[in-house]
Amino acid sequence: MTARLRHAARTLLNGLLQLLYPNVCWICERLREDLNEGICNDCAGQLTHDPYPSCPRCCSSVGPHVHLEQGCIHCRDESFAFDRAVRVGPYDGVLRSTILRMKNFRGADVAEAVAALWARHAAPRLRELGPQAVVPVPLHWTRRWRRGFNQSELLAQGLARALGVPCRPNWLRRTRPTPPQTRQTPAQRRVNVHNALAAPAGLDLAGQTVLMVDDVLTTGATAHEAARALRRAGAGTIIVAVLAHGR
Ligand SMILES: [Zn+2]
Ligand SMILES: [Zn+2]
Repeated sequence: MTARLRHAARTLLNGLLQLLYPNVCWICERLREDLNEGICNDCAGQLTHDPYPSCPRCCSSVGPHVHLEQGCIHCRDESFAFDRAVRVGPYDGVLRSTILRMKNFRGADVAEAVAALWARHAAPRLRELGPQAVVPVPLHWTRRWRRGFNQSELLAQGLARALGVPCRPNWLRRTRPTPPQTRQTPAQRRVNVHNALAAPAGLDLAGQTVLMVDDVLTTGATAHEAARALRRAGAGTIIVAVLAHGR
């Protein structure tokens, strides 16, 4: 069996296990008594533990005791249309494998469990930033149609509920499909997504503070384009919140 087939079979099996045994943790797939919205305490701790400080502008991992007023070495020369970026952790280990599973069989259930955990973990800090609306970074409709859902939208809905502000998935749309950004250089990524996101004509955000949600932030090219579209629609402060930073 090829690795891809083995992976598909395993994913299917895990999904069936979840159906039969609701006491199985979505992340470690063990029978647990301490599930909180589908995730056990050990997994919750691993998913939300960030071992490094991160840059407030681009959310890259940074060393201790560095000056970050102008951003870090990764973003100092970049101009972003968003004001700051926050993350749960680096794109690594269990956080990475969980994000990948969100795109597979029963990925929507994994995304909803992770959204609830993220909301419990981060809502107090996010609330301090004063968001008035939560906007998921959209997929092109063709990709959304193939997958059946947009994982970023499920994450955004969970955060919006916890923050008590509206989730606005229709504030952004993809104007054209773009190739997957993995395996592309930062320059290619910028070209790929240039003008690929737009807000509806006539939308007036009147200086609102917007929390924009995605699963992963790598170079920031997509988040920049999405923020540019919201900015053109009159958004004030734009904060990007992602589960993970990395590739
Ligand atoms: Zn677990
Ligand atoms: Zn930075």
